[in-house]
Amino acid sequence: MRKVVIIGGGAAGLSLAIGLKKQGQSVKIFEKREENHSNGLALLLLPNGMEVLKKMDLQEEVLKKVSSLNNFVSQYSTGKQIFSKPMSNLYGVKRGDILDTLKDKISKVDISYGHAFSHFSYNQNGEARAVHFKNGHIEKGDVFIGADGVHSPIRKSIFPESNLIQTNISEMVSLIKAPNLVKRLNGTFQKIICKAGGRAIGLLPCSKEDVVWFFQYDESIIDFDPDNDNDIKSFLRHQIGSWANPAEELFLKTDFSHSYLWKTHDMNLLPAFHKNNVALIGDAAHVFNTLTSQGLNSALEDGYCLSQLFSNENKNIPASKVFEIFYSLRKETVKNNIEYGRMLKDQFIVTQDQNMVVPMAV
Ligand SMILES: Cc1cc2nc3c(=O)[nH]c(=O)nc-3n(C[C@H](O)[C@H](O)[C@H](O)COP(=O)(O)OP(=O)(O)OC[C@H]3O[C@@H](n4cnc5c(N)ncnc54)[C@H](O)[C@@H]3O)c2cc1C
Repeated sequence: MRKVVIIGGGAAGLSLAIGLKKQGQSVKIFEKREENHSNGLALLLLPNGMEVLKKMDLQEEVLKKVSSLNNFVSQYSTGKQIFSKPMSNLYGVKRGDILDTLKDKISKVDISYGHAFSHFSYNQNGEARAVHFKNGHIEKGDVFIGADGVHSPIRKSIFPESNLIQTNISEMVSLIKAPNLVKRLNGTFQKIICKAGGRAIGLLPCSKEDVVWFFQYDESIIDFDPDNDNDIKSFLRHQIGSWANPAEELFLKTDFSHSYLWKTHDMNLLPAFHKNNVALIGDAAHVFNTLTSQGLNSALEDGYCLSQLFSNENKNIPASKVFEIFYSLRKETVKNNIEYGRMLKDQFIVTQDQNMVVPMAV
């Protein structure tokens, strides 16, 4: 049996581990952060992500934690509605809740925290034989999976020429406790758009009492580099101060010390997702514009898809062949998400009501 070593314990790494464990294979995950580290804010769970959770027998568990979204409404900052569209099989979820559900399927001893990737050591055929971590730990294995996120050092080590592309869209994300707003939203994902383009607020319930909201802006027209929480607060006051409700309510309920500013990227399709016996999955393998909301969902798809290819039936096929099949199965979807994300970005910069689509890649 192959020994699979996964580096990165986000949705991609965890879903691969769950799929492998289901087939009785042994697996080890090494995660840079400490176990109790904050797990981010919230994400959108789309039909393709939910489909994978169903296959992993996690749908029921996840449904207890998510907030179901049955409607998308877009309006101008003046309050005038642009369009609304019924939605189905769409959910807001806190990142910590989804990761906890995935981790519950894996034994605690299979995840080692506080292990930041340093480098691989290779044999003379160019195959990785061991992964070295910054804390001095060395783990030998047959196959190594980089599930280490957008800024993946493993991607850099096997594809040194790959580069992230700045999208110019920055996102300021906050989570607020607002059970009354959750009730009023009644399952609506709302987008408030500045008619001139380049600025928008998105808000959605992500649990029974939490609302995640984000202010997105085009950096090429709005220059902002905060030094502290007060900077963020006064910047937002200036940007959305005159916008119709619920902009004011969101602003007043936010503790800006927990908000974060996210400079978003995308990346051209890589020529492969592996080199010899080292492969990439999730954000490490592909980066989409944030407007697609496909980060979590395609990470789940990647992890599960690769776990199926590592089934016992394929145990005699060389790992590099398995990774070639993985690439051929995922490449088109990834390419489409990259292109769709770029289209959504153009729509965001120049708002045209008659062409506007729901900003996500479903
Ligand atoms: C802390 C954090 C908070 C986030 N919050 C949000 C959010 O609120 N909203 C949103 O839309 N998206 C958020 N994201 C991004 C989102 O989770 C991913 O786009 C998506 O889930 C894809 O999952 P992934 O497993 O490919 O990558 P990630 O979720 O990024 O997981 C990668 C994992 O690899 C670990 N890692 C990174 N470098 C190393 C290293 N050198 N050695 C070992 N491990 C490493 C990271 O700590 C992380 O746990 C967040 C990501 C992180 C890491």
